[in-house]
Amino acid sequence: MVLSFNQAIELSDVKFMQEKKLTGKFHNLLVSFFSLEKKSVMNPKRCAACKYLRRRCPKDCIFSPYFPPGDPDKFACIHRIYGAGNVSKMLQQLPVQTRAEAVESLSFEAKCRVEDPVYGCVGIISLLQTEIQKTQTLLARTQAEIAVAQAKHSQTQVNEFM
Ligand SMILES: [Zn+2]
Repeated sequence: MVLSFNQAIELSDVKFMQEKKLTGKFHNLLVSFFSLEKKSVMNPKRCAACKYLRRRCPKDCIFSPYFPPGDPDKFACIHRIYGAGNVSKMLQQLPVQTRAEAVESLSFEAKCRVEDPVYGCVGIISLLQTEIQKTQTLLARTQAEIAVAQAKHSQTQVNEFM
């Protein structure tokens, strides 16, 4: 098929218009996608975990009761040590009433591990155990001193009596 010059121009115009329409649609799609993205970024109700993971916070988000938006470091530490997927799995395996406590425990352990990558919370535990031993030794010494003082006191009372 041989096209005349005018036909060719008309055809290319139609193609151009179609492409323009498509480009326009694509442009609109991009605009709505980015405005959605912007809206979700601006959503102040997203939990700290979803904010950190840059995702939408679903209504039944497993993290949202335990990671309020005001404390972003708590999730950052936990994610760094355990990984968000593992924490989510751990929480799903627990009864709902024990999850808050589990999150506190994980958060404490993760913070310790970030601060002390070698010993983590074991460092704190052994420090406290040393402290307990020192205090117990001091207590035993003081109790011995009290016993000696009481013995001396009762001895003087016996001597005064005689
Ligand atoms: Zn969330």
